[in-house]
Amino acid sequence: MKQLIIFIPLLIVMGQGCGAAEANTLMQKRQQMVNEEIERRGIKDQHVLDAMRKVKRHLFVPDDLQDSAYDDRPLPIGYGQTISQPYIVAFMTEAGKIEPDDRVLEIGTGSGYQAAVLGEMAKEVYTIEILKPLAENSRQRLDRLGYRNIKVKHGDGYKGWPQYAPYDCIIVTAAPPELPKELLKQLKVGGRMVIPVGSFFQDLYLITRTDAGYQKKVLLPVRFVPMVHPSIPDK
Ligand code: SAH
Repeated sequence: MKQLIIFIPLLIVMGQGCGAAEANTLMQKRQQMVNEEIERRGIKDQHVLDAMRKVKRHLFVPDDLQDSAYDDRPLPIGYGQTISQPYIVAFMTEAGKIEPDDRVLEIGTGSGYQAAVLGEMAKEVYTIEILKPLAENSRQRLDRLGYRNIKVKHGDGYKGWPQYAPYDCIIVTAAPPELPKELLKQLKVGGRMVIPVGSFFQDLYLITRTDAGYQKKVLLPVRFVPMVHPSIPDK
């Protein structure tokens, strides 16, 4: 009995030790990824770099892929979808010129990772996901991680989220064949939309709404999953 009493606390201490060491390694990998793949490749916005250093991408990928979480590449998250490449998340977030008081809409919640990065930088984040299990998992994950400023909706991103419009920034992380009209309408004058457009070949666009209309700028060629039309009724 005495042996058991000594043994149990020892196990607990050892267990915590391993967990802490693992967390340290993941933290180092995350810092290294941001230094080498993101900052060195030209992302300058300090708020973006801080958010990317803070958000634990390994908590947004399936358990068996945690070791790859800090490789700079997309990873499968189930249901045929992927979490975006970290460099692209940083690039799109920088292009969106997020300010601390901004209200941001994201289309394509997926794992919730991009939403968390936005949640670190903006006042309010609204994110829409068309696949119910992904929407529900991400809602729970973001809640567990304490993001009280992010709201997740299961629905069709083509409709936007009119209830909270207009938005300072709209980030679209699935590619429609052309610019969705409803989303353009929900952009504030002075607001920015970062969106991949196209089918097989896609370009990332920065759209800026001005008093006179919409300014369009092509930023770089990209490859996103398609933005699909719903086969389920929206709710
Ligand atoms: N931003 C995500 C990655 C997005 S992958 C992340 O950080 O993990 C693109 C996501 O867009 C997929 O989950 C896909 O189901 C979703 N999607 C596709 N078409 C959509 C639509 N019409 N409305 C909302 N979400 C859509």
